[in-house]
Amino acid sequence: MSNHLSPQVVALAEQGIRWVAITWVNHIGAPLVKVVPLAAFEAAVATGVGFSPVADAFGAGGAIDPQHRLARPDGDLRLRADGTALALLEPRSGWAWAPGERFERSGVPYAADQRYRCRLQQELLGALGVELRAGFELEWLVATPDLHGAPQPAIPGGPYGADRLVEGLDYATALLDALEAAGIPWLQFHPEYGASQFELSLAPGTPLEAADRLVHAKLLIQRVSQRCGWRCSFSPKPSLERVGHGGHLHLSVQRHGEPLFQGGAGPGGLTDAGGAVLAALLQELPALIALACPLEISYRRLAPGSWSAPFQVWGIENREAALRLIPSGADGAAAHLELKVADLAANPYLLLAAVQAVALAGLNEARPLPPPLTGDPAHLPAGAAVRLPSSLAEASAAFAASDLLREALGEALHASLLDSQAAEVRRCAGLSDAELAAADAWWPLVGGVVCMAPKA
Ligand code: GLU
Ligand code: MG
Repeated sequence: MSNHLSPQVVALAEQGIRWVAITWVNHIGAPLVKVVPLAAFEAAVATGVGFSPVADAFGAGGAIDPQHRLARPDGDLRLRADGTALALLEPRSGWAWAPGERFERSGVPYAADQRYRCRLQQELLGALGVELRAGFELEWLVATPDLHGAPQPAIPGGPYGADRLVEGLDYATALLDALEAAGIPWLQFHPEYGASQFELSLAPGTPLEAADRLVHAKLLIQRVSQRCGWRCSFSPKPSLERVGHGGHLHLSVQRHGEPLFQGGAGPGGLTDAGGAVLAALLQELPALIALACPLEISYRRLAPGSWSAPFQVWGIENREAALRLIPSGADGAAAHLELKVADLAANPYLLLAAVQAVALAGLNEARPLPPPLTGDPAHLPAGAAVRLPSSLAEASAAFAASDLLREALGEALHASLLDSQAAEVRRCAGLSDAELAAADAWWPLVGGVVCMAPKA
């Protein structure tokens, strides 16, 4: 390698890295990629690689909805790698990875870029001495396709079972090795409740770190599953008869270094400011759901009694509450909130941009916090606990009406997200629940396990 390259790139080359995959996540939550040789990485940071804005109009089936405002042949953006977030992907095969952000050809940030919006909110909060820390929990299915392409659970064993861990120990070893090789910090891994379902909790970080880590970890889970002869599914509901998969988001907030969800006189130890953040999130939930649960199939997961928490309530350690307060733990972990409704079709940058904006709105203008709910909201008298939207159309209407989110995301992004939501509603109209689950059973493997061209 010539010596005009940065020490970072030279060090990677010495480690055998040859290529960098630069990803960004589009409106529908699909990670998209361009690959550059390592020697061109610095140019990819400085000037980027071309990417048509139409990629935000790709639907969950891969096709471009002609009614989407971005369904145009013209225009180009530059996807620039974030050199500060460069990490390893599969180093033994020569791969590194970096998240990207899109810029206009003139060099100004593309106002509708999802990661840029997340960054803006992070900077806005930072300037006010507020820091939100976030971490995702991933749930997924390890499966093989049957003759019809439907996922069949691959690794036997019971819920949380050591039997399942041992049955799949080579898989677990390969996965945990891959995470370590890629430098992804994680807290816990376990077999989940559903058949052949696994869960990984990622370490918390800044919103950008948390979102990047989620994207990075999903790539590795997909890679390792496939390398072991199986496939993974992050679909919120890969089949109607099985439990769904969440992408729960854990959040804590500090202001001037002081944690807001603990040490106060409110319920569960909430401070007044922490209560204000929680109240704002609770109030804005119906609109946030459009980002946290962006596919129509997301709403088949949001059923009572499945710990996907589809009620607009909060509770202290209540796993059926959309917002669960986890007071500071026996392990000394900071108190935090868990947004349980979110799933892994969500674009994590958009979700965290929105969550930060709502948290800030709560701090700026406190609203009343209802008392925490104990017990199962489904068992309360009808109407006592409000159900969150039960379809994407309903969530999208709440998102359309949210001035807070329109302002936080900017008009262009808000409007084109509404187009993507409308396109997803159109894609799914007329499909039965079973057909819908089957169509997205291998999400985010667009088109499923069969190589299909998107329908024109
Ligand atoms: N699988 C559940 C979901 O769809 C979550 C189970 C749990 O609480 O971890 O979100
Ligand atoms: Mg879980």
